[in-house]
Amino acid sequence: MLIKTIRNSLLIGCNFECQHCSVNASPRLIPEVLPIDVLKKVINETYYVPSIHVIVFTGGEPTLHPKHLRFGIKYASEKGFITRLVTNAWWARTYDRAKESLVS
Ligand code: SF4
Repeated sequence: MLIKTIRNSLLIGCNFECQHCSVNASPRLIPEVLPIDVLKKVINETYYVPSIHVIVFTGGEPTLHPKHLRFGIKYASEKGFITRLVTNAWWARTYDRAKESLVS
């Protein structure tokens, strides 16, 4: 069985604290984020695993660190990966707010 997808957890912090959370995410952990140089290294090393085509950005809630998330998606895309985002969509309470968040 080949590994086709890698899950990249940018942080374990989250703006929610769900009892069913599989990673025990918490608002207390929001400040702790994967440094950009480490993120870049992970993507670079993943590039040399030919079976992996998809990089999933997750957390916690990865949109709480938009600079890191944007870097990761852009860098992974430039390397030819399909990217996927796992989010609780707190930023999309209305259509206009969602559109604004996705465009910015
Ligand atoms: S990561 Fe998801 S499941 Fe975990 S606390 Fe946040 S919203 Fe809830």
